[in-house]
Amino acid sequence: MGAPEAFTQTTDVGHYIGGRAVPGSSGRQQAVYNPATGAVARQVALASTDEVAAAVANAKAAQPAWGELPPIRRARVLNNFLALLNQHKDTLAAMISAEHGKVFTDAQGEVARGIDIVEFACGAPQLLKTAFTDQVSTGIDNHTLRQPLGVVAGITPFNFPCMVPLWMFPLALATGNAFILKPSERDPSCSLFMAELLKQAGLPDGVFNVVQGDKVAVDALLAHPDVKAVSFVGSTPIAQYIYETGAHHGKRVQALGGAKNHLVVMPDANVEQAVDALVGAAYGSAGERCMAISVAVLVGDIADQIVPKVAARARTLKVTNPMDLSAEMGPIVTAQARDRIEGYIATGVAEGATLVVDGRGLKVPGFEGGFFTGGTLFDHVTPAMRIYKEEIFGPVLACVRVPDFATALQLVNDHEFGNGVSLYTSDGGIAREFTRQVQVGMVGVNVPIPVPMAWHGFGGWKKSLFGDMHAYGEEGVRFYTKQKSVMQRWPESIAKGAEFNFPTGR
Ligand code: NAD
Repeated sequence: MGAPEAFTQTTDVGHYIGGRAVPGSSGRQQAVYNPATGAVARQVALASTDEVAAAVANAKAAQPAWGELPPIRRARVLNNFLALLNQHKDTLAAMISAEHGKVFTDAQGEVARGIDIVEFACGAPQLLKTAFTDQVSTGIDNHTLRQPLGVVAGITPFNFPCMVPLWMFPLALATGNAFILKPSERDPSCSLFMAELLKQAGLPDGVFNVVQGDKVAVDALLAHPDVKAVSFVGSTPIAQYIYETGAHHGKRVQALGGAKNHLVVMPDANVEQAVDALVGAAYGSAGERCMAISVAVLVGDIADQIVPKVAARARTLKVTNPMDLSAEMGPIVTAQARDRIEGYIATGVAEGATLVVDGRGLKVPGFEGGFFTGGTLFDHVTPAMRIYKEEIFGPVLACVRVPDFATALQLVNDHEFGNGVSLYTSDGGIAREFTRQVQVGMVGVNVPIPVPMAWHGFGGWKKSLFGDMHAYGEEGVRFYTKQKSVMQRWPESIAKGAEFNFPTGR
């Protein structure tokens, strides 16, 4: 593969309302950085309540006609979108690397996993097929409809600026809703590019809108009476706020939050595989993944083999410009996020954990202004420490040593987050016990990052998800539709007159 083309456009990023790009009019904007150089690359508009209201009004006007289309015709638009996404996937990947900082090949993986959901949503006619019972009583049939909610919104985090919106809007559109996306203000460019592709695919104007912004835009969406449902992905405190505020305003809400994912290594695990898994899942995307592994739970003596091997790899990670195809790790998204991560490393040292590899203060030649930090490894971390309890969201792996399987399982189950977890073992019985007993939403056995496929649905437990339904998959279809049950009788049925007893089968 030749060198990928970097995304260098400096045009400011505005909104997308009613089928066209619209510059911001609130007078508020925010810098978007190139994290590899530290330079301001462009500005993003921050929407006012009025701009959000304009997007909602456009969506509300466009939705009924879209919702009335036969699902197969909506699916055809999504099929066109799928082809365009495939055609432009490297452009999207370059945008992600330029604003997020993850390495280009990792960004390509993000786009590919987003495309999976579009493929799933193209099955709209099948996904919307419902139940029918013939003859529930003599001459009466009962069937179910799944109908769109109307206007729905998605609020997304910085760490997957392409994939997480794609967890949401393909299914929302396939099921007949109009959608308003409020992307992360830290890496907003993918959202506008996808809006343009949807237009090219034949999506009617107003069915998909983008409002850039911060808390002001989010609060406007949460309070707007015409927004019927909100999908959120981001940190736990904000997820909880979105869930509570959305519910207060009578909306359906799914709010996916933060994580602290453990990888348990049993004494019978394949050591090389476990080390590869830990290095890739802890340091890939600089740890800025909600499914990153941030805790290694090392059972028994295996710790003495694992820690030195992970340390050797952490010390020699190739950290550089994400467009360099040999890069293993790029920069952190912002200087503020980098400083927060390095602050946690200082906390870990103060708390008495053993700092085996210190990634702080890394300078990358040629990229001295970039927001880099290296891979960090702690050993002898205990459950009482903040570096164990809190989400650091950076390339910091904490090793906790435990004597046996039962202690490992208890440790995982006692943690307040329950997004993902992984177990490395060669014992099928232990693996089965683990998958059944662990209090976590997504479980890997000898798989470090068990992100479910498009048709399975994504979601954690405990403080990693507020609401009942997971993102995408069948639960995604249910989230964006409301069920209606119809009982029908034809034609001479009323002849008997009013009936005062509760209806039963006859
Ligand atoms: P964040 O919570 O800071 O922001 C997420 C979204 O909420 C953004 O669109 C942002 O503009 C908005 N927002 C931020 N502060 C707000 C406020 N006070 N009021 C209203 N809206 C606000 O998250 P982030 O830093 O962009 O993303 C990283 C976090 O997302 C991590 O905690 C990570 O674990 C989590 N995440 C979770 C999943 C999951 O599926 N569970 C997936 C990806 C990321």
